[in-house]
Amino acid sequence: MKELTREAYAKINFTLDVLGRLPNGYHTVRMVMQSISLHDDVTVRLDGSGKMTLRCSLPYLPVDHTNLAWRAANAFYSAVGMRDPGTSVFIRKRIPVAAGLAGGSTNAAAVLRALDTLHGTALGDGRLCEIGLRLGADVPYCLLGGTMLAEGIGERLTRLPACPEGWAVLIKPPFSVSTAAVYAAMDASQPTARPDTDGMLRALDAGDYQGVCHRLYNVMEAVTGAKHRQIHEIRSRLLDCGALGAVMSGSGPTTYGLFAGEAQARAACETLKPEYPEIFLCKIL
Ligand code: ATP
Repeated sequence: MKELTREAYAKINFTLDVLGRLPNGYHTVRMVMQSISLHDDVTVRLDGSGKMTLRCSLPYLPVDHTNLAWRAANAFYSAVGMRDPGTSVFIRKRIPVAAGLAGGSTNAAAVLRALDTLHGTALGDGRLCEIGLRLGADVPYCLLGGTMLAEGIGERLTRLPACPEGWAVLIKPPFSVSTAAVYAAMDASQPTARPDTDGMLRALDAGDYQGVCHRLYNVMEAVTGAKHRQIHEIRSRLLDCGALGAVMSGSGPTTYGLFAGEAQARAACETLKPEYPEIFLCKIL
């Protein structure tokens, strides 16, 4: 029996811009993505049972073919032309679900990497990203991680200079949002402001953490924030507590602030925890 546990890291968006919509319904985006220390643990075991099984520490997540981790295992076996010899996957979930942190995509990426290692298939990043893209636009990014510019539908990735050492405080308000519904609302109205993505790239090039913090911007925040006032409240509270910048991640609703150091971020967490129990102190990776 062979087994491997991988840490599947969440991502936050430093910037997110939606540029347009393709005839197939996908949206073209331009965004700067960043891995953070918040992670699920994904254990993949080749158990010789001849079938796929999935367990998850969160009882309400599906553990069948609709789970992205399950779909990733199927996609791996069909891509390499192998019959599943018996694969069991266990996900120890810490990343909030449907929260704008790519939780499902990062689980899928971890399963692809683990199976590639366990079977010794050495597919390489390019091939793994191809398989991953069929599962979701964020999966290629999750396979590579770090600080990246994502363009196209999110699959055209350019590695950027690593973000200088930084700390984030993430707050997940007590509701979820549907990414599809946010995109539909975006189609119905033009954003009134856009992120300074090129300025963000310059700040990263210069290793200018303050410059990064001052340029956090997400066009989807206007849409999700119009429906849920709490997003703006959380942003204000993070800034009151000393964040150098704050913004919603992905389609939300998780909203985070970046802090000058661990001590400042930890103090903000202590202050805000009574108001927002789902709060996470994370290191920028
Ligand atoms: P994105 O930012 O990529 O849209 P997200 O962080 O907003 O993702 P996820 O946590 O990936 O959202 O969950 C989105 C949906 O995917 C949920 O409705 C959930 O039921 C489903 N899902 C399927 N597999 C998983 C998984 N392994 N982990 C989390 N959610 C999953």
